[in-house]
Amino acid sequence: VLRDYVSGYLKESDMCMATATITLKVPEGNSKAVLVKNLYLSCDPYIRGHTKSIQGGYADEYFKPGSPIVGYGVAKVLDSGHPDFKKDDLVWGFTGWEEYSLITATESLFKIHHTDVPLSYYTGLLSMPGMTAYTGFYEVCAPKKEEYVFVSSAFGAVGQLVGQLAKLLGCYVVGSAGSKEKVDLLKTKIGFDEAFNYKEEKDYDACLKRYFPEGIDIYFDSVGGKMLDAALLNMRLDGRIAACGMISQYEFDQPEGVHNLFNIITKRVRVEGFMVFDYYHLYPKFLDTMIPYIKEGKIVYEEDITEGLESLPSALVRLFSGKNAGKAVVVVARE
Ligand code: NDP
Repeated sequence: VLRDYVSGYLKESDMCMATATITLKVPEGNSKAVLVKNLYLSCDPYIRGHTKSIQGGYADEYFKPGSPIVGYGVAKVLDSGHPDFKKDDLVWGFTGWEEYSLITATESLFKIHHTDVPLSYYTGLLSMPGMTAYTGFYEVCAPKKEEYVFVSSAFGAVGQLVGQLAKLLGCYVVGSAGSKEKVDLLKTKIGFDEAFNYKEEKDYDACLKRYFPEGIDIYFDSVGGKMLDAALLNMRLDGRIAACGMISQYEFDQPEGVHNLFNIITKRVRVEGFMVFDYYHLYPKFLDTMIPYIKEGKIVYEEDITEGLESLPSALVRLFSGKNAGKAVVVVARE
């Protein structure tokens, strides 16, 4: 439960545990609701936006102080009043940061049909972050073979998939991440051509010129701020920037300014913001692509797994200092 709206840096103590007694049945008269047992819960950067009193985030308010935090998760149906879901179905979608949730917003609940891949993937690779990578890259970036692609927050839930999709298309891909361990894994395990630790770079412009002497065709931006400013200086003619997220700014009450916007004009760069929710109709197509990729070992995925409902606050806080190495998942129950 979020204690109160947060300004400045988010702390674990901004959240607390609470208990309540519930009946494990869908209440009478709530015919379309689904009661679930939560198995895997997802920690995502957008949740920070909903902890602020002024909503600067992606969408309208999902939860208020004093009520359970709402987020994505994988769950098992215990009781259902909805014709599309039945007892023992596995689902992913919006649920609560709690052991059991009564889900009324069933339009954002997806039934899991492929259970021969790790179930935790339905918090990341096969759910909202994976869809963000897939739609952001293919639909927004309009990529072409052999283009030069830069991915920030590259070892994260979204970034690692963007890089692999770009490699599968035959692009040259460089990622930035915040530790040597992540940089090494990007190059050895995830398959990026190059990667660098942005925390050790003093001059981002010089750094990008080193990795992209001929400039960047596609920048998949998850961080905003100074890295976006430097990328603007290094874009090629007709380049594309997918404005996916701005995590370097989420802890600030007043975001930093971006100065090099004129490059958008001179280099005819297309900068496009996008929201993954607008592309959920592509989910079946996405699964048809991803499931074979996973089974054939063409896509790998790193997860940062912690155990127990009580570890959710620390898992969320860790996102904003980069302590998660891979998709942040909390296991609440395994079955
Ligand atoms: P990640 O799994 O990448 O976790 C967040 C990562 O951000 C951290 O591990 C850290 O990695 C990095 N980070 C934290 N603070 C900073 C900072 N000050 N500067 C630079 N990097 C920082 O998260 P996701 O992959 O889930 O999300 C990535 C981005 O995509 C976020 O901005 C998110 O808001 C956005 N997003 C957008 C969606 C949309 O529909 N547009 C949907 C989903 C996500 P490091 O060690 O590299 O610093």
